[in-house]
Amino acid sequence: MAKPCLDCGRPCNATRCEPCRLARNRARARPTARQRGYTTEHERNRAIVLGKSTVCWLCGHDGADQADDVIPKSKGGTSAVSNLRPAHGTEPCGTCGVRCNQVRGNADATSPPPPMSR
Ligand SMILES: [Zn+2]
Ligand SMILES: [Zn+2]
Ligand SMILES: [Zn+2]
Repeated sequence: MAKPCLDCGRPCNATRCEPCRLARNRARARPTARQRGYTTEHERNRAIVLGKSTVCWLCGHDGADQADDVIPKSKGGTSAVSNLRPAHGTEPCGTCGVRCNQVRGNADATSPPPPMSR
């Protein structure tokens, strides 16, 4: 038996009709990576950067799993490969135990990035 949808009042078989349920799910969803400033270009270039090297440019240890912006987005940096360096981000460094990328945040780099081997 049909009951009126809580949101739009149309008769439906659940508390809310399908369109209203989907709309509520969308409204509750967390912001996407794109909305947080990460583009598919960043994702693609991250794979390229980590494919070349996984040595963290902040602490110099292996095992980096993220691409850090050398020039932060807030300071006009881009997602170009030339502005990305491997850094510990999702998992902490096995040697320092630090998520270098998050510790650094948007602070200015204290040392110039090491030259990328080609
Ligand atoms: Zn509805
Ligand atoms: Zn590191
Ligand atoms: Zn380290």
